[in-house]
Amino acid sequence: MLILLNSVIGQTRAKQFLTASFSRGKTAHAYLFRGPAGVGKKTCAQAFAALINCLSPVNGDACGRCSSCMKYHSGNHPDLVRIQPQGTANALKIDQIRELKKTLAYPPFEARFRVVLIKDIHLTMRRKEVTNSLLKTLEEPPADTIFILTGDEAGDILPTILSRCQIVPFYPLPYELVTQALMNDSVEQETAAALAAISEGSLGRARLLFQENLLQLRGEIIENLLYLAPGTPETVEKIFQLAEKAADAKENLEELLDLITIWIRDVMLAHKGLTERIINRDLARLLPAACRKWGHDSLRDKLLMIDKARRQLLNNCNRTLVCEVLFFGML
Ligand SMILES: [Zn+2]
Repeated sequence: MLILLNSVIGQTRAKQFLTASFSRGKTAHAYLFRGPAGVGKKTCAQAFAALINCLSPVNGDACGRCSSCMKYHSGNHPDLVRIQPQGTANALKIDQIRELKKTLAYPPFEARFRVVLIKDIHLTMRRKEVTNSLLKTLEEPPADTIFILTGDEAGDILPTILSRCQIVPFYPLPYELVTQALMNDSVEQETAAALAAISEGSLGRARLLFQENLLQLRGEIIENLLYLAPGTPETVEKIFQLAEKAADAKENLEELLDLITIWIRDVMLAHKGLTERIINRDLARLLPAACRKWGHDSLRDKLLMIDKARRQLLNNCNRTLVCEVLFFGML
């Protein structure tokens, strides 16, 4: 799919910077798009890659129609190299860098520049052999090659890599833009607004929460913890069901625990009368009941229980069991 810079949501400063450096013919040999996950770094990297080789750019953006743009569109541009983390370790492998070096030994097939997109560079920083090899490539770049690296702010990136790249910072998206983008995906407004706030301006995270039904499951768990009477057979049955559903979220279970943590913080804010700072606006109707049922100490205990569950999950304890213990404890 061809993505144009103009169609990238938000990130005005990054887009202006890229367009300006391209228009002035001052393209760097390596860029690092750095910022929170899910705010458009990879999308922007693809759009910029298309612009770099577009044969007739229009207003500082790719035209979308020339033969180069058409090849980007079909995903078959011979001079676009994409490298992404692989395998269970989810990191770049040394073979990928070796392969890249072989490719770079030859000039581009047809375009003015060969563009190398390297995704999620922050995931690879512990692999010394890979980073050293990549670093050498960045230090002695072929003149006709432009690297675009993307990396999440949360992960450490080696200073030696940073110093070889033009850093382009990316920021959380304004909540209105995330809400609007989700509504364009047919998410209803209240849910879209809640997702935008919970994901703190990360459209990628908001989409994940929605697609995996995590937001809905969070609501179901919270409502049940609030209204179930402890000790009845129905309650026991329901908790087992919820624990099973939560465990089915698999690698997203941590995300689900984050959502419950954010809700508990909201109840703490409601206790202090700071309702304007509440994030889970879609669950605002539950706040009065939550404040009546759970005092400050009880809420703090719940946060500690969630922390304990997180540690158990990191130690590979059985997910269903961890959730059962957690939910019974939180009743
Ligand atoms: Zn074009």
